[in-house]
Amino acid sequence: MNWDYAQPVAIRFGKGRATEVNDVAASMELHNGLLVTTPSFVRNGQAQRLVDASNGMLTTVFSQFSPNPDVTEVDACATAIKANGCEFVVALGGGSAMDLAKAAASICMVDESIAQYHGTDKTLPGEHLPLIALPTTAGTGSEVTCVSVLTNRALGKKAPIVSDGFYPSVAIVDPELTYSVPPYVTACTGMDVLSQAIEGFWSKGHQPICDACALHAAKLVFQYLLIAAAHHDDEATYIEAREKMCEASIIAGLAFTLPKTTSSHACSFPLTNLYGIPHGEACALTLDYFARINQDAQGGRVQEFARALGFANASAMADAIYKLKASLGLRTDLRDLSLGDEQIAELVRISRHPNLYNNPVEISDDMLDAMYRSLAGIG
Ligand code: NAD
Repeated sequence: MNWDYAQPVAIRFGKGRATEVNDVAASMELHNGLLVTTPSFVRNGQAQRLVDASNGMLTTVFSQFSPNPDVTEVDACATAIKANGCEFVVALGGGSAMDLAKAAASICMVDESIAQYHGTDKTLPGEHLPLIALPTTAGTGSEVTCVSVLTNRALGKKAPIVSDGFYPSVAIVDPELTYSVPPYVTACTGMDVLSQAIEGFWSKGHQPICDACALHAAKLVFQYLLIAAAHHDDEATYIEAREKMCEASIIAGLAFTLPKTTSSHACSFPLTNLYGIPHGEACALTLDYFARINQDAQGGRVQEFARALGFANASAMADAIYKLKASLGLRTDLRDLSLGDEQIAELVRISRHPNLYNNPVEISDDMLDAMYRSLAGIG
């Protein structure tokens, strides 16, 4: 088996290290930066604290964007970068802030709209401004990936763009930034970590270094996600769980960025686009289903993965995924949406996303139809 591995992102991990943005920028001889952050971090003062700590290096703040950022919001950010002559970008936020920042830091180098590269075969030029990523959820792993997931609301399309220029130069992972994440968002983002790890492992593009990362990340999620998502009386336990989930998030990012995700991510896109189900919850909805479909694929390596996690077999791992979702209060079906034949057909059609073809077992429309009908509770 031939495989390649490279990982270009420098990682700084640890509580309280968010203030190191200044050192990082200075070491790269960068002086005029734009901060991409969510409106909530502007309101609660976190953005201003970072600006203050930057000693004048962060001159502009861009926060006019929504979760699952739209291509028009990326273009608006690129315009702000150019208008203020910024030479680097800092992203403080979850996957939405980081993905918008990645795309803006690239598209600002050319006179085009990011929409021309979204869901098309057109390759983005490699030139880009340096990006420093500070994730505040645990998470998407976007801080170490070359992926930016964007939405074109006008066309009803959500899809990833992959570009080598999207790798952040530096990821500063400060677990303290995640303490304020509400339980439901913690649950959703944590299940995204688990989906990335498991899908990275069984992807057709799997390879040994990413396999080791996948196993490590999945173990941490099964051990720590429920604790991180609860408001715990035992503060030390809670803080440890937050730190371990941040570790899981980066390592799951490394686990999937080269092999790519598969079936659950493919199905998540219509679930988010059409029904507003948050990304991680949408991925988790079908993860146990595909764990059963894939259990005997690839000469038994999914079974081995499950055993290495401490389960009797892949089917027991699927049961544990289902139980974890239920314990976190996440949806385990689509019954509340009262879906009919037309909606099921639409879900099947839009699930036929390129990621579906990375799944180790070929997924037919009939299989998708049966899965969505079962989730919807219709015959
Ligand atoms: P998000 O960035 O959309 O944030 C979800 C919500 O949590 C927002 O309302 C945000 O304001 C809030 N939030 C974030 N951090 C917080 C904090 N510390 N305290 C309180 N509230 C906080 O959610 P996400 O799950 O991190 O990112 C989802 C996006 O990332 C989706 O678009 C998904 O498709 C994409 N994604 C990208 C990659 C990648 O490799 N680029 C991988 C997986 C998912």
